[in-house]
Amino acid sequence: MSTENPAIAITPAAAPPVQQDFIRQIVRDDLASGKHRVIHTRFPPEPNGYLHIGHAKAICLNFGIASESGGWCNLRLDDTNPGREDPEFVEGIKDDVRWLGFEWHALRHASDYFEVFYRAALKLIADGVAYVDDLDAEQMREYRGTLTLPGRNSPHRERSVEENLDLFRRMRAGEFADGSRTLRAKIDMRAGNINLRDPAIYRIRKVTHQNTGDAWPIYPMYDYAHCLSDALEGITHSLCTLEFEDHRPLYDWFVDRVDLVNHPELWQPLLDAGLPTQPAKPRQIEFSRLNLSYCITSKRKLAQLVGEGYVDGWDDPRMNTLRGLRRRGFTPAGLRLLVERVGVSKQNSVIDYAILEGCIREDLDASAARRMAVLDPLKLVISNLPDDHEERLIFANHPKDESFGTREVPFARELWIEREDFAELPPKGFHRLKPDGEVRLRGVGIIRCEQVLKDADGNVSELHCTLDPQSRHGMSGAERKVKGTLHWVSARHAVAAEVRLYDRLFNVPAPDSEEDGKRWLDHVNPEAKRVVQAWLEPAAAAVAPEQRFQFERLGYFVADRVDHRADVPVFNRTVTLRDTWAKQVGQ
Ligand code: ATP
Ligand code: MG
Repeated sequence: MSTENPAIAITPAAAPPVQQDFIRQIVRDDLASGKHRVIHTRFPPEPNGYLHIGHAKAICLNFGIASESGGWCNLRLDDTNPGREDPEFVEGIKDDVRWLGFEWHALRHASDYFEVFYRAALKLIADGVAYVDDLDAEQMREYRGTLTLPGRNSPHRERSVEENLDLFRRMRAGEFADGSRTLRAKIDMRAGNINLRDPAIYRIRKVTHQNTGDAWPIYPMYDYAHCLSDALEGITHSLCTLEFEDHRPLYDWFVDRVDLVNHPELWQPLLDAGLPTQPAKPRQIEFSRLNLSYCITSKRKLAQLVGEGYVDGWDDPRMNTLRGLRRRGFTPAGLRLLVERVGVSKQNSVIDYAILEGCIREDLDASAARRMAVLDPLKLVISNLPDDHEERLIFANHPKDESFGTREVPFARELWIEREDFAELPPKGFHRLKPDGEVRLRGVGIIRCEQVLKDADGNVSELHCTLDPQSRHGMSGAERKVKGTLHWVSARHAVAAEVRLYDRLFNVPAPDSEEDGKRWLDHVNPEAKRVVQAWLEPAAAAVAPEQRFQFERLGYFVADRVDHRADVPVFNRTVTLRDTWAKQVGQ
């Protein structure tokens, strides 16, 4: 694995089985001190797109910490933005979390709590800490002030509790137009932290919600809904990314002011609806996002790649969505290994894409059986074998693990080898086949190239070779050394396959930096997908979708989840055997 990039902090490969990071330390301390008996976490995606590689970190962290400590983790769909959200994404998210290897304790939706949020808002109004404002969005922005200028109080800030209760009930009843009124928390318009300058709690939006239909003309804001959802679910440690650090005072403000723990009347509707609820005071802890070079981790931009046809869908193997990575052949264990290697801290950094590839290779090296395939075929005839010669050679399926067993590989007089494994005018240090040269054919013996045939255009069309019978298994010359070993498939037995050669979707490490004045879409790598017709040994073809192999000397490949059929095989290249990018970017 290439780990040269000094900008990357990686926990050593030999890390102890119990991961050490500041969040796990807090969790251990809280258990040791008796603050919590059981750890509760949640993974809270918004169902407005498919999950991406960055989410894998949040998933592994939340589910991992819960399971390591004997606690539990909920999957909560943060569905407070109707219109942008879709049930298709909900199903995709569930599928992806399970694929990564995790199971949730309970599946919840922020929308399950809409009635509680509403009652809690009435309580805040009654307590004199929330008010209905009539300023429109632009006016509010103007009143809010800036980082250097304090905000100003809205002229509606001092409305009476009665008037606020009446207006808010009428907002809820749908009496007012979208955006015409807002419920705001009454905190401090002069606060240094802008998030505390009377943030919005509810906005009017007459949009149909995928779960609650048209029941609600008002929807809660993220900062209000998120912390109360955590509290309702009894989340002990609410883990989120660093950009929410400045929101933490507001998170705590809402949790403390609403005080669900001491106000069971607010959440009685959940019990009535059969949703077990035991509120607790959650603690928000921030960690740094997972950023990877050559990747985009913004759902909006990923949606744009799909929408504008740069890729064939959310599950296109070039996409760094979890579905894309899955279809590409990446493994859940490889992704979990990446998250473990990257570690958890408050330090923002960009992880080299090569680290991810290294993790995937490491997992696939151990878990993928070996097969032979030829991607760019050149005919090779063994002229000292009879026309009808046929053997069934026994090959180990894995060089380092006998439990993978063996398979039969048909061998005959006519073979396919990789075109680039022959050079008529070999460059210096070329150890593959050349005129009059010798190489070993994997599992067969040593051949000598006797004759090079060409087509009318002068291209090499066929090689005629002789096989040294003494070099074959069990013979006196079996141990004779030659420099190169080539893979091959028997032409007569080979199965034709479509092989999709994928590479990085962007050809620069930071596609969305805009440093060079280019649009991020201008960095899409046109070479990221190349389709070839290849030949497979029979044992590579008749397999189920998502079966992964190392095609010897070529890389790791997976039978495509969608298009592969045993009689019409389609394989995707997951990753090459070695990093081919390091030298290109001059590292
Ligand atoms: P986007 O901005 O692309 O929409 P998001 O952060 O809004 O992504 P959510 O669905 O809200 O996506 O995220 C769900 C959870 O995953 C949040 O807790 C968020 O902090 C976390 N998460 C999202 N992206 C990353 C990332 N790159 N690294 C680590 N955690 C992430
Ligand atoms: Mg978000």
